[in-house]
Amino acid sequence: MHADILPAIRSPSDLAADMNAAERERIRAKAALFAPPPAQLADGRRDLVGLSREELVAELDAIGEKPFRAKQLWHWIYHQGATDFARMSSIARPLQEKLAERFVIGRPETATAQTSSDDTRKWLFRFRDGQEAETVYIPDRREDRGAVCISSQVGCTLSCTFCHTGTQRLVRNLGAAEIVGQFMAARDSYGEWPSPKGETPRLLSTIVLMGMGEPLYNYDNVAKAMRIVMDGEGIALSRRRITLSTSGVVPMMDRCGEELGINLAVSLHAVRNDLRDEIVPLNRKYPIEAVLDACRRYPSASNARRITFEYIMLRGVNDSEAEARELVRLIRGLPAKVNLIPFNPWPGSSFKPSTKEQLAKFAAIVMDAGFASPIRMPRGRDILAACGQLKTASERLSAGAKS
Ligand code: SF4
Repeated sequence: MHADILPAIRSPSDLAADMNAAERERIRAKAALFAPPPAQLADGRRDLVGLSREELVAELDAIGEKPFRAKQLWHWIYHQGATDFARMSSIARPLQEKLAERFVIGRPETATAQTSSDDTRKWLFRFRDGQEAETVYIPDRREDRGAVCISSQVGCTLSCTFCHTGTQRLVRNLGAAEIVGQFMAARDSYGEWPSPKGETPRLLSTIVLMGMGEPLYNYDNVAKAMRIVMDGEGIALSRRRITLSTSGVVPMMDRCGEELGINLAVSLHAVRNDLRDEIVPLNRKYPIEAVLDACRRYPSASNARRITFEYIMLRGVNDSEAEARELVRLIRGLPAKVNLIPFNPWPGSSFKPSTKEQLAKFAAIVMDAGFASPIRMPRGRDILAACGQLKTASERLSAGAKS
């Protein structure tokens, strides 16, 4: 047989890449079923927040305005934090009025804001269609900075058994405007505008995509929002200050690393597949070995930017010394640190937090193996703002949506 008509022999890595591509398409198609509503008001005005630079140029072109106007608007929206066109002093009054007739610069509505006795702040943000999601600011106790924990979905499909959010069905994905809008509204509440430049300290200094939802199941919107946040002429937050936390959506981990280069955190929580299948059900699709392989491929991981493994400490479930040793064996060779998270009980959960002694023993084994293993003190517990406690009353309204 002539070589040209022999079927092409594909290498295992090509086959894996094909499978990943097919899987990514499936994830994308599913994300589309839960798409957010258009960022438009009932009166027809469009929200400019959440548009990419190119989309902003196109919107302005459609009303006969030159591309440099997009640059000006970007500066006002994302550097100055303006929400009113009348504040934009570099734009003449007639154009301000023209813009206000067609556009808005939106923010999610603050349904509630609570501050914990430890200064952690939690907002319940309401979006235009009435859906709600929670955002948490966790200030650093020693320095003037802190992390904003942002939600990527209303509800979650993944049903991790220790997680309160997981008991809330997925309602829908959040749009780019709603994701970046959580950070902007949080900054409004601390008055942190204009965006601090360069090394100037920031109160809201890091973003962790660890709120409600699995960000890699809403990758396109999350990626668009993070590109806006990282843009040097606006909010200008460095990719080093953004961490995306995933339960291990393997095909999208590769994409996130290649395209965004932000830090990665992986919700591991168990070292055996049978247990992880139970407490992080996504493990049945992407088992521990596949998740760790994706971590080894993650492009921006280095000793300076280590992958964080989140490990929730559940008494008598995953907290034995043997499990600590297995954890160390699994992650050996990876630039990694392990965040040990004391379980935060929530109404109806059957798990119990590990004892202090067990936590300390587990941490010591991980640390002796050369991995930082901080025990994350629960923050905002009194306002149910701690890890795995977020949940809103939003119900799924869209009849076409399926989980
Ligand atoms: S831990 Fe994260 S992925 Fe799992 S159910 Fe909770 S919000 Fe969803």
